[in-house]
Amino acid sequence: MLKNPLSRRKPNRASTEFKGQVVWITGASSGIGEALAVGLAAQGAKLVLSARRKAELERVAMRCLQAGLTEVDVMVLPLDVTDLEAMPEATNTVLDRFSHIDLLVNNAGLSQRSLCKDTDLDVYKKLLDVDVLGQIALTKAVLPHMLQRHSGHISVTASVAGKVGVPNRTGYCAAKHAVMGFFDALRAEVEDDGIKVSTIVPGFINTAIAHNALAANGEAYGKDDAYIEGGMDVDEAAQVIIRGLARGTREIPVGKGKEMSALWVKRISPEAVFRITRRLR
Ligand code: NDP
Repeated sequence: MLKNPLSRRKPNRASTEFKGQVVWITGASSGIGEALAVGLAAQGAKLVLSARRKAELERVAMRCLQAGLTEVDVMVLPLDVTDLEAMPEATNTVLDRFSHIDLLVNNAGLSQRSLCKDTDLDVYKKLLDVDVLGQIALTKAVLPHMLQRHSGHISVTASVAGKVGVPNRTGYCAAKHAVMGFFDALRAEVEDDGIKVSTIVPGFINTAIAHNALAANGEAYGKDDAYIEGGMDVDEAAQVIIRGLARGTREIPVGKGKEMSALWVKRISPEAVFRITRRLR
């Protein structure tokens, strides 16, 4: 008789897979990055927290201390991922402090809420700068050190929007499809050198992503939307992601709504997905 693989899971003990591991998280000042930081802090990871807003990073660092870390284990490193030239120096700063990096989580990101016909070209440039080039530049700065050690793990927070095109997000979908392609290709290059690459594929997760998204004129959208507000709880999402990263899973889907079924329907029947997405306008 076939056994249910879930029944072979170990009892739910506090996980410690990341204890002592050096993890660098971008976009750590809110949302998914913040929840990952606190979840990994509870496991005893050594954390580097990056984003632009230093005060928010310090708030998250405080939560990591409350979760069990000591001050020597948490580094706040403000970084704008569009500052491509800053990446080598930022990487050296982390290496000076912790000597190596076990896991890089390229999580910083920016979304969009505007129709293509209304959207300034500068909005597309900004989305590609933050969501694609920033991740590539930081990855290229960290990769040589991982290759030298024949060890390391690089991940990126992509999106279901990196697999399926949806209205009001032409630039965001372009950016997330680009990172899916980049990191899948990178994996094929470096896996035999001992480097793991994971793409994280969230559906709707309840964070400030819609609020912070770019509107047609490049200003912040400034509103929440029902899809995001009804999305998966961010701490629950972080636990799914942390479990996937601990297992070295190459592609980590995370979400609880109907949007997750688009991942497999797109493979079986792209036409069905195209018919559904035009109704989402
Ligand atoms: P948030 O808006 O809460 O977080 C975005 C994070 O990115 C913030 O920490 C922000 O920090 C940081 N960030 C934005 N621009 C820059 C920049 N130029 N340089 C450095 N950091 C930057 O949203 P989420 O937590 O939801 O988003 C995290 C990731 O998850 C993103 O990549 C997003 O695309 C992805 N995602 C989210 C989904 C969701 O439903 N929530 C679904 C699919 C994917 P700061 O402003 O301090 O710089």
